[in-house]
Amino acid sequence: KAKSEGRSTYHFFEAGMDADLQQRRSIEAGLRLALQRKELRLMYQPLLGLAENRVTCVEALLRWDHEGRTISPTEFIPIAEETGLIVVIGEWVLREACKTATSWPGDVRVAVNLSPIQFKSRDLLGLVKSALSDARLPPTRLELEITESLLLADNDANLKVLHELRAMGVRISMDDFGTGYSSLSYLRSFPFDKIKIDRSFMRDLTGRGDSQAIIKAVIGLGQSLGMSTTAEGVETEEQLEMVRAHGASEVQGFLFSPPLPPAALANLLHSEATKHQVGDKKAS
Ligand code: C2E
Ligand code: MG
Ligand code: MG
Ligand code: MG
Repeated sequence: KAKSEGRSTYHFFEAGMDADLQQRRSIEAGLRLALQRKELRLMYQPLLGLAENRVTCVEALLRWDHEGRTISPTEFIPIAEETGLIVVIGEWVLREACKTATSWPGDVRVAVNLSPIQFKSRDLLGLVKSALSDARLPPTRLELEITESLLLADNDANLKVLHELRAMGVRISMDDFGTGYSSLSYLRSFPFDKIKIDRSFMRDLTGRGDSQAIIKAVIGLGQSLGMSTTAEGVETEEQLEMVRAHGASEVQGFLFSPPLPPAALANLLHSEATKHQVGDKKAS
């Protein structure tokens, strides 16, 4: 009996793998054509500076419109990374985001996510320079978000590129901080400009108290290391007030704004700019 059970489990598992593999193959094939078919687009989510009380930065987030549905980057980025397609896709994202940012007010930066693969496979420094100069965007208006996995290998070449980017005036952010297994040591290996605290810490705030203690500690750490801190995934007023009280520099999340199409984001930025101008006139 045990044997037959084992067998049926095995067959079930195998069939499941086939379906997964098939779906993967089809995503892979579709992804190869996505750029030329113009199925990729960027959404833009504003980050609110708490001291400034305005949008200080906007993160570009990739979307793929494929066969009638929109596929999340969490679904296709891993496949794009495994196939190496992330290199051309990532180049498109960087160029597109820089171009779009030129139409925003000059004090708003654009943040672009980078995959570790992009460091390995191409002249990343050359690409960033060319994307900035083609768009005529000053380097100080660009932030690049990297994850801990980039530094996992403790790769000197990657660190060198990061230092060169920073020397150009580009800011470097550590994304999803706290999700890797050795977060603290990465803060020692490179002087990040910004730490983005992963939204998993925001999620269970009302439950256990330890998430709040961690958020508080990371913000304090950022302050003492001269790095700004962004709280990701802020969805409620309570979370906003908590991270504000602990001294976070920025918040990002559905409470302030979800990721928006480029036109809606531009409207938000320009209505905000007008609001400030009116305020300034009143004051003077
Ligand atoms: P990320 O860089 O940490 O981006 C933040 C993610 O959190 C986004 O998911 C955003 O929509 C989501 N988010 C923002 N505020 C909230 C909130 O209040 N609650 C909740 N539940 N979620 C919120 P998205 O757009 O699905 O992107 C997922 C991930 O995919 C990104 O995480 C990033 O790692 C990756 N990604 C997105 N675009 C790119 C890209 O152009 N290149 C690369 N390499 N990765 C990308
Ligand atoms: Mg990010
Ligand atoms: Mg993040
Ligand atoms: Mg995240």
